[in-house]
Amino acid sequence: MAQIAPCILLTFDDYHIDNWHAFLPVLEKYDAKVTFYLNNLDKLTDEQITKAEQLMAAGQTIGCHGWRHVWPVQYSQDNGIEKFWEDEVKPCIDWYDAHGWNITNYAYAYNNYDEKTNARLFDRFDRFRCGLGQIDRTVFENLMPGMFDLETLPTQRMMPGASTDTIIRGEPKAAIPLDVWKQIFAQLLDRGQYMTFYGHNISAGTNEGHHTQIDYLEEILKLAKEMKVACVGMNDLPVVVR
Ligand SMILES: [Zn+2]
Repeated sequence: MAQIAPCILLTFDDYHIDNWHAFLPVLEKYDAKVTFYLNNLDKLTDEQITKAEQLMAAGQTIGCHGWRHVWPVQYSQDNGIEKFWEDEVKPCIDWYDAHGWNITNYAYAYNNYDEKTNARLFDRFDRFRCGLGQIDRTVFENLMPGMFDLETLPTQRMMPGASTDTIIRGEPKAAIPLDVWKQIFAQLLDRGQYMTFYGHNISAGTNEGHHTQIDYLEEILKLAKEMKVACVGMNDLPVVVR
């Protein structure tokens, strides 16, 4: 396997390409690679497509977040797994093919999946960002189930993440405190581990929706760099052994 150091995988979901792209200089300032999971590809403007391609050219990972962000389990139960594939996954693959994008990572909408969705998607995609579930993120012990040994990476395809959002549905929420980030980084270094996270918009957080606020995210990147925890994208991980 490729040599990989203790690291975090920061990921961001949905359709915030303008703000993600605007944050690229900060990522580069801290040598950070992250993963952006895009949906609604057909609604991207040419300018936004160029921004996504600039992110990829800069070494950032773009992943698939479905076509219309339906609930994967409910949709496939109601309509059949093939209909989920036809409506939610295949249009993305066709779009990537048409644009020459090589996309190998997926994040389920709402972190919602089951054995059937996995069985249908595992052939096409390498890794799947999912969630740790509803936890009090201010308590270090609650985050420990998200920390895995680096040796598990070649066969680890489900990547459960903790939320980095500081604003959820427009409301400020208690996010992971900086001293808990310090504990996380110390454990990753001490035990040779990695951990996955997810957020949405990267912004000042002044409107509706889910946001990991810019200043907070920069504090995390700064601390990671100081403590020498690598910040990597899904494409930087060792190849999945199937
Ligand atoms: Zn989403």
